[in-house]
Amino acid sequence: MKYLSNEQIPDFFSSLQATHEVRLPIMLPDGTRCLGHPGDGTVALFGGALPAKPTAAFFPHEGPVFVAASEGFTEPSAPEKPLLVVGFTSRDLACLRFIDRFFAEGWRDDIYFRNRQGALVVGVSGYCGPGGASLALADGDCDFELVWDRTRWLVVSHTGAGSAIVEGLAETVSDGTLERLRKEMAVYEDENEKAIRRASELIRADRVPDTFWSEIGDRCIACTGCNLACPTCTCFGVQDWRYAGRVKRSRMWDSCQLDGFMREASGHNPLGTEGLRTRRRIHHKLAADPDRWGEISCFVCGRCDAVCPTGIGIFAVARELIERFGNI
Ligand code: SF4
Ligand code: SF4
Repeated sequence: MKYLSNEQIPDFFSSLQATHEVRLPIMLPDGTRCLGHPGDGTVALFGGALPAKPTAAFFPHEGPVFVAASEGFTEPSAPEKPLLVVGFTSRDLACLRFIDRFFAEGWRDDIYFRNRQGALVVGVSGYCGPGGASLALADGDCDFELVWDRTRWLVVSHTGAGSAIVEGLAETVSDGTLERLRKEMAVYEDENEKAIRRASELIRADRVPDTFWSEIGDRCIACTGCNLACPTCTCFGVQDWRYAGRVKRSRMWDSCQLDGFMREASGHNPLGTEGLRTRRRIHHKLAADPDRWGEISCFVCGRCDAVCPTGIGIFAVARELIERFGNI
């Protein structure tokens, strides 16, 4: 198994820029972290899940579809170098696995795969969570994983492409550290995860009345933070931008909490109230997606609860729903 000291991390990822478009967590001046390029700031692998979803590297807030001009249409080409994106927790990787399926099935989404095809994904785990808390090992779903054992980053490859990238790194003796960490960080079904599963059961058993959704919806200020933060929210709208005699068509993230989300040209709106829109946000993850994809599409990353200014992220709603309807 390979390893890197923490001091070696910036140079290691900088060296990969010759062959890859590297994005990795960096520290911002205000102490928060986001995905950036090597050299944009101090590399910041510690602290757990990034506030903004790392899946945005493949499905960005605004993505070009084509540019139309008098000489014809041009579609954006794939990035010159494949992306290499660092900083996915095991829960983020489950989200990525889900949206990979979503964008691949039926009409394969060329725009998504323009970025995703050939990209390398790097997970982070071990004692690198907030305040040194443990993050479960991904043990897959990524090309290689950096596992912090409190003294060094163990580098664990999961694919051939991942092995090729890390093959030049120093080797460490196999002393059982990784196995110990795997046991210490076994993925517990935590309280939030249990609540999500139970809420899903209740919704699917039709135990939640519409009045509940109206009440929760009344607390929503339609800021859209929950959708924009969620790695498994994949809805988008299309915008045309006119400039310099050209029209650029882009697709941009949409939000099911907005009034215009489903409004039809006739004026009819199947999600015409906050209650209906809030029901959809939760129902989609906990009932519709299990029916469609065979799994709940909330992987308990915690972002929507962290950003919702009125306290109706999915964990909060799940807990309230269980309290009120769990024993009926
Ligand atoms: S916790 Fe919220 S943001 Fe994270 S996957 Fe679930 S619904 Fe999405
Ligand atoms: S983050 Fe909260 S207030 Fe904002 S749109 Fe989502 S549910 Fe509504």
